[in-house]
Amino acid sequence: MRLLNCNDIDNQYEYDGHLGVVHYEGHTHFRTWAPLATGVYLNLYLDGEGNNKIETVPLERRENGVWFVEIMREIDGDFYTYTYEYDNCRKTETIDIYANACGVNGKRGAVLKFERTNPEGWETSERVNCRKPTDAVIYELHVKDFSVNPNSRIPKYERGKFSAFSVDGTYFDDISTCLEHLKELGVTHVQLLPIYDYCTVDESKNDDSQYNWGYDPANYFCLEGSYSSNPYNPYVRIREFKELVMTLHNNGIGVIMDVVFNHTKETEQSAFEKTFSGYYYRLNPDGNFSNASGCGNEIASEHKMVRKYICDCVKFWATEYKLDGFRFDLMAVLDIETLKLIRSELDKIDPRILMYGEGWTGGMPALSGERLGFKHNSYNFPEIGLFNDTFRDSIKGGTFDSYSRGFIGQNFHVVNYINRGMAGSCEHTQLPNNKDGCFAFNPSQTINYCEAHDNHTLWDKLSICAKNETEEERIAMDKMAGAMVILAQGVPFIHAGQDFLRSKPRVPKEGEPVNELTTVDENSYNAPVSTNGIDWSRKEKYIDVFNYYKALIALRKRYPHFRYAMRDEVERHVRFTNGGDNNIVCYTITDTLDEQEISLFVALNPYKEEKYVRFPEGGYVTELDENGQENPSVLYGGTNTPPVSVIVYRRVN
Ligand code: CA
Repeated sequence: MRLLNCNDIDNQYEYDGHLGVVHYEGHTHFRTWAPLATGVYLNLYLDGEGNNKIETVPLERRENGVWFVEIMREIDGDFYTYTYEYDNCRKTETIDIYANACGVNGKRGAVLKFERTNPEGWETSERVNCRKPTDAVIYELHVKDFSVNPNSRIPKYERGKFSAFSVDGTYFDDISTCLEHLKELGVTHVQLLPIYDYCTVDESKNDDSQYNWGYDPANYFCLEGSYSSNPYNPYVRIREFKELVMTLHNNGIGVIMDVVFNHTKETEQSAFEKTFSGYYYRLNPDGNFSNASGCGNEIASEHKMVRKYICDCVKFWATEYKLDGFRFDLMAVLDIETLKLIRSELDKIDPRILMYGEGWTGGMPALSGERLGFKHNSYNFPEIGLFNDTFRDSIKGGTFDSYSRGFIGQNFHVVNYINRGMAGSCEHTQLPNNKDGCFAFNPSQTINYCEAHDNHTLWDKLSICAKNETEEERIAMDKMAGAMVILAQGVPFIHAGQDFLRSKPRVPKEGEPVNELTTVDENSYNAPVSTNGIDWSRKEKYIDVFNYYKALIALRKRYPHFRYAMRDEVERHVRFTNGGDNNIVCYTITDTLDEQEISLFVALNPYKEEKYVRFPEGGYVTELDENGQENPSVLYGGTNTPPVSVIVYRRVN
């Protein structure tokens, strides 16, 4: 491929106006940026696929490499593509990279009146009131996983769709499912795996044999069609998704979008390449595509019109769909300047909108590391959150070594990381400084978790690394991990179903031995729904675990003690104490609540035996025991804590 001088292009042609379609009554404006094109043509169609072209119209070249045409008639609901001409030679037709609606499988953009997509009540639907990131409790969920299993009790035609989120009052036996479940658990935000238009699911086939997580982006401004009841009519998916957002907002739950601006599924055949070859992706000096995503390409976020594109896209979703947050996949592929610009643009819309991501890449980037959103550069973007893989692996054991064990499995080498994790992974004068353990500038920068869609579920990991322990012992380990995530300073993040021991079962492949590794799926991105669908009968079976998670969330919400946004607050309120054993992590959190000083004492006993823990001075009652219960008996001096548990006590005198 020819190498462009993108700096020169940016200097000469940067454009800060609106790109895409603007729809007026009776006429429509089309604008696209293609500074080196020798011609651009607009193709209008009656439908999102098939042989039904209405006409092809040339665009005219305007300032800064922008091409423009005005169509002087009503084209609401029509479809369109562009054909770009380079060196006076017409190239392949492509969808507009700025198309914000599309037909089936995202082949053509659609021209819509967005005000017609609003469900009744939309105007008054508002983002959840999350004053600071540490007030959030995030629940990661895939649209299809949520309701695809018949035991979700969602009507058959809505299973696996956006519309399942708007069905309330669903129960499996006496166990609440879906929306009722989210309300009962008490999470504040749902983080949806990709809902933008992705490639691998054929939207024209409405069946459950297809499944994908969706980390294979096609059209960044469009919704995925397979989650709608009709992927052919572009109005339908938009209205149904807005109903999802509105229903969750009405129940006090925010919606976070998983955005994948690090790569596209297609490379040479992508809309970016067809629009302006060589500009949108990073290239190696030899002209080949670099691959920091591990998926075949990496997006050149530092180019000015790519930066603008990403910013415009996030702003579109935040405003048009009133979203409450954005989670950036492989965020370290993006440059820090772009990330900070997005954050400042989101602040202008609503500072409560959350923004965080993965501070790593999937390969070697073609931009120098200090410019990128790596976790080790965290202090350069303190207002953007990062997934805390250090705390994650310290809790449960190495993610990429299924047999390794963490703190909940009596690995005491990690105890210093556990101390730091509980204190929000930021500097604390009582703890030795360590950049990896203290990467967070403030506790609001750490996303604390021990399970996500990637890798084994926590329960499956425990079934491997603790296979010789009893189920009762593994449940204690799981609950301890959940307590650490939910009670640590920072932003707690829970994978859907983690609260009832989610498992991803699979059938061993032919020739594989049947064992603890081959019967669970550690990378289920395209596995069948029998692996990925949430099995609500597990909630019934493990209702005690669910009730424990629910109690943890309620405790976190009740006490500001667990939700400090700033590191000086942690320093002031959280004090580590000596409980009598270095491997038992103990600390107090003292603060006022309703004008009353309340001191909580938290003890983490990782041993398989009951252990005596020494209190600081005073008498204590049990605020939350290993079953999520209170106990009003006043204890003095200290007490025995159960094996593998986190217990919270409250000082009463
Ligand atoms: Ca799609």
